[in-house]
This record gives sequence, C-alpha cells and structure tokens, in this order.
Amino acid sequence: MAGEPQDDCLFCKIVAGHIPATVVRETETTVAFRDINPQAPTHVLVIPKAHYRDAAALAAGAPEVAADVLRETRAVAEDEKLDSFRIVFNTGAGAGQTVWHTHAHVIGGRGLNWPPG
Ligand code: 5GP
Ligand code: ZN
Repeated sequence: MAGEPQDDCLFCKIVAGHIPATVVRETETTVAFRDINPQAPTHVLVIPKAHYRDAAALAAGAPEVAADVLRETRAVAEDEKLDSFRIVFNTGAGAGQTVWHTHAHVIGGRGLNWPPG
C-alpha cells in the first residue's frame, strides 16, 4: 500500500531506527539526517517517514507530507545558518537517484554552480 514501510528500503530502516543516522531534526511526519557522503559543508537529507519512491509520488500520494518535507528543508537551512542553499530531489536513475525513498538534499555552506552537472 502507498506509504507503507518497505523491508528492503534503506531509509525506511533509518526511520525505524534499525540503521543509525545523525538525525538533526524530526517531526511527526519527517526525519532530517546528515548525508553519509557529504558534498558540501552542509548536506542534510529530509525524508518523509512514509515510503514513496520519489518526490512526484509523494506529492501525488500525500501532498500534505510533501509540504512538511519542504517546510523542514527551510528549518534545516535556518538551523545551519545558510543564506543560500539548494534543495535537490534527484528523480530517476538518470538523474542520480540511488535510494528509492523520497529525499530532499539540502546542500549549502559553499558556492554552488548553476547549471548543476
Ligand atoms: P540520491 O543519489 O538517491 O539522490 O541520494 C541518496 C543519498 O543517500 C546519497 O547522497 C548518499 O550519500 C546517501 N546515503 C546512502 N546511504 C546512506 C546511509 O546509510 N546513511 C546516510 N546518512 N546517507 C546515505
Ligand atoms: Zn522507504
């Protein structure tokens, strides 16, 4: 069923506490934790606790939770004192998505090129 935890999903395991993560924020519907392979001084992932494969699926299936994720990206940026930052939802293997549980990358603390690679 849409949104239900998946046994083979890394981020569902982080939500359940079965895999450790450096959690920086948590709400009823979201968790934010530091990326294990940071690409910038701040690199935090904000995820919904519910399992959706990508941002579009989350927006379609649970739009209120998609809003919660976005609200939390801003809160992370405030906590980290970032004036400028990037919110990235890699969607699809060709765009670099490797974990099939919606996650917003919050990246900042250095200059960010545009367009991205
Ligand atoms: P994607 O490539 O799907 O957009 O992003 C997945 C992100 O998850 C990558 O930046 C990767 O470094 C991060 N990641 C993968 N495995 C783990 C893990 O076990 N713990 C944490 N904290 N991050 C992870
Ligand atoms: Zn999941």
